[in-house]
Amino acid sequence: MATVRLKDIRKRFGATEVIKGIDLEIEDGEFVVFVGPSGCGKSTLLRMIAGLETISDGTLEIGGRVVNEVQPKERGIAMVFQSYAIFPHMTVRENIGFGLTVAKAPKAEREAAVQEAARILQMEHLLDRRPSQLSGGQRQRVAIGRAITRKPEVFLFDEPLSNLDAALRMDMRMEIGRLHKELKTTMIYVTHDQVEAMTLADKIVVLKDGEVQQVGAPMDLYHNPANLFVAKFLGAPS
Ligand code: ADP
Ligand code: MG
Repeated sequence: MATVRLKDIRKRFGATEVIKGIDLEIEDGEFVVFVGPSGCGKSTLLRMIAGLETISDGTLEIGGRVVNEVQPKERGIAMVFQSYAIFPHMTVRENIGFGLTVAKAPKAEREAAVQEAARILQMEHLLDRRPSQLSGGQRQRVAIGRAITRKPEVFLFDEPLSNLDAALRMDMRMEIGRLHKELKTTMIYVTHDQVEAMTLADKIVVLKDGEVQQVGAPMDLYHNPANLFVAKFLGAPS
């Protein structure tokens, strides 16, 4: 587990500043949701934390260490994307274990980690299947399973449910909530869906045009929104 600290984080693409000085403290084991409309900078912010995007200005700390210049695989994070990023020619077992295969972990260690991830995600009976024999929700579980085997200190999710239909989205939302309860790992979760934000978050960060509008517990934001934007965003029926 790890704290994540952002100090005046900025991102420019050419002359355009899309992340405009974000200060944020994420506690050990906290489930934090970045929420805001499309284009407000959620993915860019997450990608900077992951190390997939350079930071133009500011300081990023993970677990008390400044990681601005640290390679993604050295940051103790694992990221789950919206598109499943799983390999069609590999079995579920091979897909879940892929990160450890790349890391050249011993076979026994890999198999134990795959079994543990499969147990957590209730996928033990699916390990020999290929992605074409899985539902959309099961495929997304495989992607989450791969993240689990890496034993990250921080999980990053970028709209992991947006490709799923409404019923499945609800199932997977509960699944991710359970995952957090079981692992107690710090999780940073990006969504534009206020229901996901309200149900999953310990703390919500509302973003607009690359700036933080408000940070707080779901019910604090709901009852005491800092401005009309926050009120509309969290209060509007989905
Ligand atoms: P969100 O995930 O909230 O929808 P993004 O982080 O993807 O938003 O994008 C934030 C802003 O940054 C948008 O205006 C987008 O067009 C811009 N942007 C994102 N990536 C790039 C890039 N590689 N080059 C230029 N502009 C980008
Ligand atoms: Mg995005």
